[in-house]
Amino acid sequence: MKKNISNQRFGRLVAVYPIDKTYQNKTIWHCVCDCGNEIDVVISYLTSGDTKSCGCLKQEIDQSNLRAKYDSKRVDGIATQLFSDKPRKDSSTGYRGVCKYYTRTSKQERYRAWITIKGKRYFKSGFLTAEDAYYNGRKELEKLYLPK
Ligand SMILES: [Zn+2]
Repeated sequence: MKKNISNQRFGRLVAVYPIDKTYQNKTIWHCVCDCGNEIDVVISYLTSGDTKSCGCLKQEIDQSNLRAKYDSKRVDGIATQLFSDKPRKDSSTGYRGVCKYYTRTSKQERYRAWITIKGKRYFKSGFLTAEDAYYNGRKELEKLYLPK
């Protein structure tokens, strides 16, 4: 006797109809996945919960694992592997992680390098030029604090 699982849902799959072929005497069902794919699955894989999607589910899990890995390496909102020796010309000073400030008493122009690691900010101050702050400040901070 064939078990009728027509229209039953198994994870993302909905069994539609049994196909003519069998596998080890078990019925193979034609299923439609939520993503739109259609696959044939041996009934026991469905009822046991081994097969819950056309494969898209596993793919998504793999991808989110990858993303989590990527996120853990993020510094200043960009991934560390994207760091290069070339300064990024996207800040007001022309150097990423460098800002201008004025000394409190004599109001002299100085540059401060900073870096944010896991929400914590580190500084190196007192540079006379933005370039100096970048190469001797920011790069030093990267060396010190970037996760290896
Ligand atoms: Zn799918």
